[in-house]
Amino acid sequence: KPVLAVVGRPNVGKSLMVNRIIGRREAVVQDLPGVTRDRVSYDASWNGRDFIIVDTGGWVSDADGMAARIAEQAELAIGAADAVLFVVDATVGITDEDEAVVRVLRRSGKPVVLAANKVDDQRLEAEAAAMWNLGLGEPYPVSALHGRGSGDLLDAILTALPEAPSANYEEVGGPRRVAIVGKPNVGKSSLLNKLSGQQRSVVDNASGTTVDPVDELVELGGEVYRFIDTAGLRRRVKEASGHEYYASLRTQQAIERAEVCVVVIDAAETISDQDLKILTMVEEAGKAMVIAYNKWDLTDDERRRYLEREIERDIHAFGWAPHVNISALTGRNVDKLKKAIDAALEGWETRVSTGQLNSFLGRVAAAHPHPVRSGKQPRILFGTQAQNCPPTFVLFTSGRLDPQYERFVERRLREEFGFVGSPVAVEVRARE
Ligand code: GDP
Repeated sequence: KPVLAVVGRPNVGKSLMVNRIIGRREAVVQDLPGVTRDRVSYDASWNGRDFIIVDTGGWVSDADGMAARIAEQAELAIGAADAVLFVVDATVGITDEDEAVVRVLRRSGKPVVLAANKVDDQRLEAEAAAMWNLGLGEPYPVSALHGRGSGDLLDAILTALPEAPSANYEEVGGPRRVAIVGKPNVGKSSLLNKLSGQQRSVVDNASGTTVDPVDELVELGGEVYRFIDTAGLRRRVKEASGHEYYASLRTQQAIERAEVCVVVIDAAETISDQDLKILTMVEEAGKAMVIAYNKWDLTDDERRRYLEREIERDIHAFGWAPHVNISALTGRNVDKLKKAIDAALEGWETRVSTGQLNSFLGRVAAAHPHPVRSGKQPRILFGTQAQNCPPTFVLFTSGRLDPQYERFVERRLREEFGFVGSPVAVEVRARE
C-alpha cells in the first residue's frame, strides 16, 4: 500500500486531520509536546483505494532551534513516504517552521498536498489562499474539526499517491530487505558497522536528491542484502531528537518496509518491556524475525543463567524466531546472522499445498477431535493457505472452534511445517 506522511509544525491540527482521514478517533488529538504514542501509522481508505497514513504529530519541540528540528524530523518521515500531506494553520499564516518544512519538501521531490487547516467557515478562505505563497501549489482549505473540505482534500491525496506502491516498499526480486531494530543503545549501529565493514555501498533515495542515504546494500557471504533505513543508525538521530516517540516511528517505518527484522537485544541487561514491544511490532507486522542477543562479551555465567530464565519467561511467545548470541564489538557470531536471516526468510515464504494441508488437518482431527459443545461437534471442513509472507491460513469450519482448539491447531501447524522465523496467521470462517 502506498504511504502518506502527514507533516507540519505542532498545533496545526495534524492528529485531528489523521482522525478525519481514517474516520476514527484513534490518535491523540492535541499535538502536546512530549506526548508518546504507540501507534503512528494507520490504515486508511478513500473511494476504494487503500493507503497507509503516517502521523508525525506528537513530536516534541523546544522553543530552541525548533525550525531546524521539525525540518529534520519531517525529512525522515518524508523519506519513507510516497506522498506528503503538509498541514499549515490558515489562521496563523506562514511561519519560519513552515518555510523550513517547505525546503525539505522541495528537496525530497515527493508529491505534496497542501492543507490549510482551521478554515472553520467561509470567511477564513482568504487566509487559506495566502498559503499559495508557500509555492507548493493550491492550498486546500479544510477544517479538520468540522470536516469541512475533507472530500476535496482526499481526492487530491489519491491523485498524489502512486497507484502502485513505490519500489521502496514492494520491490520484487531485488535484494532482500533487512531492518535492524531494537531499543536505543543495544548496539544496532555497531552491528551494522560490523556487518557492512568496508564493502558498504550507498543506495540513494528514489529521488536521488535527499542529503542522506536511506538504505545500504551490504554483502553477506556472497549475497547482497538491502539494509533498510540505516540513515537513522548512522546519523545517530535518536540522540539529536532524543524522543522515544520519534524512535518508535522510525522503528515502525523500518519494520513496515522490511521483509525480515533483526531485533537486537542487549544480553547484558534485563529484558525490558521495550524489547518485548519491538518483538510484538515485528510479529504484528507479519515480518520474518531473527533475535540477536548482543554484547555477549559482557555476559558472565551468572548473567547467562539469568538471561536464559528471562527468555523462558518473556520471549517464550517468540520461540519461533531463530536467535544468535553475538558481540558487535568483537565480531563474535556476527557471521552466523546471515544463516539465521536466510532461514527466517525461507520460513516466511513457505507455501503448503492444499493437499498437504488438508491431509494434515485430517490427521489432526482424527487424533484430537474438537470437544463436543452442547451436543454439537465443530469440525474443520477444509483449509487453504491464502498467502505466504507470512504464511496465512484460512480454515472453513462447521460451527465455531474453541479459541483453545484454534491455538492447538496453530501449534500443530508449526510443528508440522516449521515456519521457522515467521509469524503464522490462522483465520477461521465458521459456517453455523
Ligand atoms: P544503537 O543505539 O542500538 O545503535 O547502539 P550503538 O551501536 O550505538 O551501541 C551503543 C553502545 O554499546 C556503544 O557504546 C557501543 O560501543 C556499545 N556496544 C555495541 N555492541 C557491543 C558489544 O557487542 N559489546 C560491547 N561490550 N559493547 C557494545
